[in-house]
Amino acid sequence: MSAPRPNPLLSDRDVDFQLHEVQAVSRLFSLPDFADHSRDTVSLLLESTRRFARAELYPTYRAMDEAPPVFEHGRVRVHPALRALYAGMVDLGLLTATRPPEVGGQHLPLTVHAVASAYLMAGNLSAYGYLGLTLGAAHLLEVFGSPWVRDTFMTRLYRGEWTGTMALTEPQAGSSLADVKTRATPAPDGSWRIQGSKIFISGGDQDFTENVVHLTLARIEGAEGGTRGISLFAVPSRRPEGDALVPNDVSVAGVIHKIGWRGLPSLVLNYGEAGDCRGWLVGQPGRGLACMFQMMNEARIMVGLNGVATASVAYHEALAYARERPQGRPAWAKDASRPQSPIIEHADVRRMLLRQKAIVEGGLSLLLSASYQADLAGHAPDAATRERASRLLDLLTPIAKTFPAEKGFESNALALQIHGGYGYSSEYSPESWLRDQKLNSIHEGTTGIQGLDLLGRKVIAGEGAALRAFQEEVDATVERARAAGVEAAWCDALRGALDEAATLTMELAARGLAGEVEAMLRHSADFLELFSVLAVAWRWLDQAAAAREGLKRGADGQDFYEGKLAAAQYWFAVEVPRVALLAKLCRTAEDSYARMRPEWF
Ligand SMILES: Cc1cc2nc3c(=O)[nH]c(=O)nc-3n(C[C@H](O)[C@H](O)[C@H](O)COP(=O)(O)OP(=O)(O)OC[C@H]3O[C@@H](n4cnc5c(N)ncnc54)[C@H](O)[C@@H]3O)c2cc1C
Repeated sequence: MSAPRPNPLLSDRDVDFQLHEVQAVSRLFSLPDFADHSRDTVSLLLESTRRFARAELYPTYRAMDEAPPVFEHGRVRVHPALRALYAGMVDLGLLTATRPPEVGGQHLPLTVHAVASAYLMAGNLSAYGYLGLTLGAAHLLEVFGSPWVRDTFMTRLYRGEWTGTMALTEPQAGSSLADVKTRATPAPDGSWRIQGSKIFISGGDQDFTENVVHLTLARIEGAEGGTRGISLFAVPSRRPEGDALVPNDVSVAGVIHKIGWRGLPSLVLNYGEAGDCRGWLVGQPGRGLACMFQMMNEARIMVGLNGVATASVAYHEALAYARERPQGRPAWAKDASRPQSPIIEHADVRRMLLRQKAIVEGGLSLLLSASYQADLAGHAPDAATRERASRLLDLLTPIAKTFPAEKGFESNALALQIHGGYGYSSEYSPESWLRDQKLNSIHEGTTGIQGLDLLGRKVIAGEGAALRAFQEEVDATVERARAAGVEAAWCDALRGALDEAATLTMELAARGLAGEVEAMLRHSADFLELFSVLAVAWRWLDQAAAAREGLKRGADGQDFYEGKLAAAQYWFAVEVPRVALLAKLCRTAEDSYARMRPEWF
């Protein structure tokens, strides 16, 4: 296998622009928790992360895709490169970076952590998967674990000695976690005996650390049905006894043969087949799902970043290919004696590239805005700011998870398309990124579930407080854009789309209050799409404003700023007009699939 051509994974210029010119991340450094950070510390972290992603993670990506984990003698053997890769990622400090010093962290803003992580994801999504899962599991134990649980499990996860998983899904309980059946019974020593089966557990076994800790949802014997009867347990594959680690009766029953993310095994796990699987309660009994939501919400932001990163690496590959692949001549110069043009000179190829750029950079901007709100929600000194940010983050989470997953898939398909017939061959990487990307609309709550979450909960929460906060953010951006001299038509279009969304939300909420819940929620996927188009238009207007400001300052990189303005123009010309159609579908409760009976198909 030949070495892959170098790929920047993400554009460094764009990352700097998004962090410093669009978001002004340095405003966060004035918060007491973040006071130790500065533009210099951010640059150092980004430098080391980029270097590792490009030099170590990316070159092993294809090999891991081609040689997925092997299940032998009850254990899973993963790609041998993972031992060094995992150690290298741990050395970068990203496991604890955002956490407080008490657990070995440095209170790095999530906004910075997110963009650093995106390089790792773009380099090798599966390898990053182990780190992301471990980070989420350790954080859950930090917040909800007893001192013993923290000391025994969390510290080793944060030190990178063990890895973690989230073990929610069961065959009958995927989207519907209320149907979890795994059981927990109290044992005299204070632990719990766990019995049941989980499916699709990513990172559920591997051979590069000595232990894996599964954050497992189970129902305490006799607990009520539904979500309120579910509790959370830390269940290690091997449990500590004295100074030794002994098997904990968690066995791998099978490996799922996946079409993507092939370096990270997703497993069927059986707990307690021999009646000797011990777990330790995390948080209060019956509050398991509430605790797990912390991990799931973090994971949803992470999935959104996965989507952006996977679309980004493919976009950069397609861009390089389009610059060097000669094919055909311009329509007005068909003279065969002329040399062929690089395909980037064909307008339709630039259409495909610009759409990818708009999705990738719009998506990154959205994820950084959500992360920024997470930073305020966790670290702003005053309660009102924390609450507002928390509501806004709640509203943005289903959008930030879904937009990069759904549009990222389209973006990945365009990267393949630009490669023509070669893109359809496994000699080239775009097909593998397309396979990887597809998972992002499925795990951590499918797109359907995210739509229901946005319309049924998030957008109407707190009597519309989150929506009001979103409106304020958009208004501030419109003001910035007008002051910077951005096209008035774009500013007006964004304001118009926002008003449309707000009015529609009130109408749908009223329909729900009137008892017409099915009609309210019928087009929840379209409602989510409408908000995605709107939120990304907001992010593109902000980028257009920063680009105009940069041009006025005479800052370096005129081409870069012009590219930003063209991408913003594209979004306002092609996507924003769709808001009206999507709103109409939701408002009229258009009923083609509602009245379609299963037997009519
Ligand atoms: C590669 C991979 C890795 C995974 N990793 C993990 C992991 O580490 N830990 C873990 O716990 N789980 C993991 N999962 C499981 C994943 O979270 C579930 O697959 C996902 O939640 C969907 O559940 P399901 O597969 O049972 O599909 P279903 O819930 O059966 O959904 C099937 C379809 O029906 C739709 N649907 C279902 N219910 C509704 C509803 N109420 N309203 C509207 N539409 C609905 C869905 O949107 C979907 O399109 C992983 C899955 C995969 C494929």
